Order: sequence, then structure tokens, then C-alpha cells
Amino acid sequence: MHIDARKIADHSVIEGEVCIIGAGAAGISMALDWIGTRHKVILLEGGGFEYDDQVQELYAGKTTGQKYYPLKSARLHYFGGTTGHWAGLCSPFDPIDFEKRDWIPHSGWPITRNELDPFYARANQKLKLGPYEYGLDYWQKENPRLKAFPLDRNVVWSKVWQSSTARLTACTKSRSLTRRMCIYTPMPTWSRLAPMNPFLPFSKWWLKITPVKHTR
Ligand SMILES: Cc1cc2nc3c(=O)[nH]c(=O)nc-3n(C[C@H](O)[C@H](O)[C@H](O)COP(=O)(O)OP(=O)(O)OC[C@H]3O[C@@H](n4cnc5c(N)ncnc54)[C@H](O)[C@@H]3O)c2cc1C
Repeated sequence: MHIDARKIADHSVIEGEVCIIGAGAAGISMALDWIGTRHKVILLEGGGFEYDDQVQELYAGKTTGQKYYPLKSARLHYFGGTTGHWAGLCSPFDPIDFEKRDWIPHSGWPITRNELDPFYARANQKLKLGPYEYGLDYWQKENPRLKAFPLDRNVVWSKVWQSSTARLTACTKSRSLTRRMCIYTPMPTWSRLAPMNPFLPFSKWWLKITPVKHTR
């Protein structure tokens, strides 16, 4: 059932046992998992079904840390959320991303990559990706032309990304892109210092490579 909160009386109460806030990729996926259970689940979305300038204005704000697109244009405030921007490139975090590293403020997650693996595998299926394999070795067997970057692996290593066919069926892209594409990108160690931004042009990546202490 869909209820438009703009059309119900102030102070109305909608009761449920679980309330998921935000209908983006994360919220919708979680809500879908409850379908067929006996629980009443509310998916509370702050925007409508269409883009609206006034609602989007709620996202006006500053970001800190690694430079990124302006907040107001980098997140979408309506049903579906930022999937409207999502380019469909997917790759799991590496084990090191979860580890505490003294030289990275706020690093260290309370979970490990191993614990996340079963969920990654499920997400992989939902996103209509290929096999849940992101090691270069596996993909080199599929496509021997893929080569690792001939650089010191302690500083830069190659990582595989897959492109979601779920995304590509929803937009018009060249035919060559409509099959799962195996991409490998240089992973400079510096990118471990902040959430990785796969959208930076490679030239910037190369310029910013600086050897730093790491545990790989
Ligand atoms: C140009 C671009 C390209 C990208 N390409 C990729 C890519 O190729 N691969 C990749 O992994 N990532 C990519 N991303 C990032 C990715 O799109 C987002 O990380 C992802 O969509 C976030 O999903 P989410 O569900 O966490 O949040 P969102 O999709 O942002 O969903 C949040 C939802 O919550 C709602 N909401 C917000 N505040 C409230 C509130 N107070 N009450 C109720 N509802 C609220 C919003 O309206 C929205 O619907 C890209 C991002 C951009 C900008």
C-alpha cells in the first residue's frame, strides 16, 4: 500500500513493526527481503515518485574530506534515491578496508570482509553481475588479454570491477557495454586513505600515487 503523507492529516500515526527510512538502493533492497513475512514493514521515503526541486533543496549542504560532486547534485531525494545516478560499477571492499590502520583516522570496522561475503554474494546476484569473483587471476582465465599493471604490487595493484547488467538494461549504452564487462583499474595506495572514488580520471590517480605504509 502506498500512502502519500502530504495527503493525510497532521499527527496521523502509521503503525508497523519495522520502519526503514529512505527508499534508495539500500532501503528498497531491505524492504524487499521482508515481503512474504508476517511483519508489517514501513518504507518511509522523504521524496515523491518524481524528482522535485523543492525536495532536492533539502540536500543542500557542504561535504568534507575527499573532494566529490556537490552534495545537492550527488544524492537524489526521491523514490529510488541515488540509483538515478548510479553508473552500475561494482566491486567489494578489500579485507584491508575493514582493518584498523594507525595512519588512517577512524579506520577499523567492527566487522570483517569474511562476515560480509555472504551478503556481497547475494547483492551480486540481485545486481545481475557475473560470478562473485573479483580477483584478477579468475578473470584472466576468462580473458587472457587482461594484464595486471606492471607496477610494484606493494604500491599499486589491480582490482576487478563488474558492470551491472541491471543498470545497463535501464539505460541506453553501446552494445559492447551491454554484457558484463570486466574492468581492472589501478588501485593506488593513497585511495585507501579515504572512501574510494572510482570516478576520478586515471590521470589524477597517477598523479596522486605516493607510497604510504600499508599492510598488504
Ligand atoms: C554520478 C554518480 C555515479 C555513481 N556510480 C556508482 C557506481 O558505478 N558504483 C557504485 O558503487 N556507486 C556509484 N555511485 C554511488 C551510488 O549511487 C550510491 O552510493 C548509492 O545509490 C547510495 O544508495 P543508498 O540507498 O545508500 O542511498 P540513496 O540512494 O541516496 O537513498 C537514500 C534515500 O533516502 C531518502 N531520504 C533521505 N533523507 C531522508 C529522510 N530524512 N527521511 C526519509 N527519507 C530520506 C532519499 O530521498 C533517498 O531516496 C554513484 C554516484 C554518483 C553521484
